[in-house]
Amino acid sequence: MDSAGRDRLLAEHIRARPHLRDIFQFYEKIEEIWNTSRPDDLLALVDLRDASLRDRLSRGIPLIERPAFARLALPQTGQQFRKLLTVMRQGGGEREQYASRIATFMRNGRKPEGEVIAELLAREDGHFDTISDTMEVPRPLLVYLLKMSLRISFERLHETLIAFLRTLEWEYTHCPVCGAPPVIGQAVSNDRRRYYCFFCSFHWESSKMAGCPSCGETDPELFNLLYKHPNEHQGILACEACRTYLKMVDQRAGPNLLNPDIQEVLGLHLDMAAGELGLRPLGQPLVQAEIIRRPGIDDYRP
Ligand SMILES: [Zn+2]
Ligand SMILES: [Zn+2]
Repeated sequence: MDSAGRDRLLAEHIRARPHLRDIFQFYEKIEEIWNTSRPDDLLALVDLRDASLRDRLSRGIPLIERPAFARLALPQTGQQFRKLLTVMRQGGGEREQYASRIATFMRNGRKPEGEVIAELLAREDGHFDTISDTMEVPRPLLVYLLKMSLRISFERLHETLIAFLRTLEWEYTHCPVCGAPPVIGQAVSNDRRRYYCFFCSFHWESSKMAGCPSCGETDPELFNLLYKHPNEHQGILACEACRTYLKMVDQRAGPNLLNPDIQEVLGLHLDMAAGELGLRPLGQPLVQAEIIRRPGIDDYRP
């Protein structure tokens, strides 16, 4: 979705949903940061001449392998990260405290923010847990700030690789670009499903709609669309067999392409409902299944 389209959509949502105004206004500030920033070049993460690339993709290994991030400096991402921390500080309270702790950690790295971020991304998830414990900042908040700082760089990468990505046969439920799980699914037609990546925002389509995207369960007693909001066309695709869920939007009655950031906010009540049912988000280990604590979202009232 282009930035003018995103701006328009945000304005519409703010008007229509005054109870979510705080959250959407935070998104507006992030949009402003994106509109005045430049992307980093992430193409160095992908080697399209690598002869084994097609083979690895066919086995479900995503395009980007995380250790490759260690080769990058990410100056623009670092700058956007710093601006996001400023917005958080202006929010005051708990957000301000978290922002200060993160800023202290970054300073102690004695390197530009972008390089600290590249090093973090290059390491395994366990390292990320340690960092989050050390600075006493919730891991989901850190992940959120990183992904928002990287968003326009990933969008640039997707644009650059679109010809290649279009030809990709990809029947997996994790992202072919970065390997993260989907944040939301979209029923495009009766037999096609589109997934939106939680981390890099890439979207891809899968032709196999039968069964649970996680374990393949097809018994409708165990695997079903649990709840559907009459106006938002949004529900939970839940599986009793593997205890996972995916938020789904029925595109047949809505817009063609979604803005996954906005849709995520609109579906917060669904995450809560799924959590109460003991379900965890598709593709995420149980320990990470807490609802993402985002600045501006943690004071959400249904
Ligand atoms: Zn991705
Ligand atoms: Zn399942």
